[in-house]
Amino acid sequence: MTIGILGGGQLGYMLALAGYPLDFHFRFLDPSPEAPVGRIAPRVTADYTDYEALDKFAHGLALVTYEFENVPVEAARHLAGHVPVYPPPQALEAAQDRLNEKTLFEKLGIPLPEFASVNSAAELDSAVRKLGLPGVLKTRRLGYDGKGQWVLRSENDIAELKRDFPSTPLILEKFVRFTRELSILAVRGRSGETAFYPLVENRHRGGILRLSLAPAPQLSRPLQQEAENAARRILEALDYVGVLAVELFECDGHLLANEIAPRVHNSGHWSIEGAVTSQFENHLRGVAGLPLGKTQMLGHSAMLNLIGEVPEPGELLAVPDTHLHLYGKALRAGRKVGHVTVRAESAEQLSFRLSELPAFFQREEFCISPRVAGASKYL
Ligand code: AMP
Repeated sequence: MTIGILGGGQLGYMLALAGYPLDFHFRFLDPSPEAPVGRIAPRVTADYTDYEALDKFAHGLALVTYEFENVPVEAARHLAGHVPVYPPPQALEAAQDRLNEKTLFEKLGIPLPEFASVNSAAELDSAVRKLGLPGVLKTRRLGYDGKGQWVLRSENDIAELKRDFPSTPLILEKFVRFTRELSILAVRGRSGETAFYPLVENRHRGGILRLSLAPAPQLSRPLQQEAENAARRILEALDYVGVLAVELFECDGHLLANEIAPRVHNSGHWSIEGAVTSQFENHLRGVAGLPLGKTQMLGHSAMLNLIGEVPEPGELLAVPDTHLHLYGKALRAGRKVGHVTVRAESAEQLSFRLSELPAFFQREEFCISPRVAGASKYL
């Protein structure tokens, strides 16, 4: 069976690597001629809005999935007229617009930070009156890794923003003083079967994920249950098929939903070595109509993102149960070029292994030290 994937970055690359042992073949479509999947699979270079190219791409495919959540919904709907598309295009529609996303959480009874829609400077004033300060103003669409966001702490910040008010639909959220950021990866098969990975703690620097700890330290059963209940409601409401990531804030021992990603997710990379079935294999099993694999952890794992630079591999791989993944991308500042997974039998052994990593990883931005845990990037 040949599976078409929209987007040819590292997520697509790792999907293909997980799919080859199952005898799946892949064809990718990406607007960039540099997309890393070109090394391992046939790749069509075309815009997502080039319908003629999409039709040619879809020819002979068993199904289409995506690794990039900003694929235009219309392109996904167009393809769905020729070939099954999973996750369904309505999942893209919900995830691409923060207002749709939060309205969905609300409708499903999933707790979330208070929010208000903002389309003008006057609407910002009434949203601030309703929610109070501080708040986080975000563009409804196309924000990623913290881009397209403004923290408003005072009347001065508001006055400053109004001088060059963004001409795009916005949403204001109440600023949440969370203890930490978590995510859950959930997967649903074509038959409606579901499975959940353990909650993971995510630490960011400069708006980019740097470290994921799986499971999240001191994870309790009720917290995991809360996350699974929220994820299950979203999966069912969207008639979802494939892997879904739900990003959450932990606040006073409970969870608030921040956003969803309708695809495999950076905070699930640890599962390649750290779970019985990786998120990539489970996504493929789900979309292909195969039984899902077990999501149990194999010990404790940490995933460290490599941003714009790579370490010397020999010294790193000398640390037991440490695994290096490089995506074949040119090194550029701010770009995710690879990741490292460190696995251990216990949380204590994992801390020790992390402390044994080469000096390259002991810099503050890798967030290994517990002192740098949690806290909004804005604090
Ligand atoms: P997002 O693009 O929504 O994932 O936001 C990027 C980052 O900004 C998050 O990972 C948080 O660290 C921070 N952030 C987003 N929304 C809020 C909020 N309502 N309160 C506090 N921090 C936030």
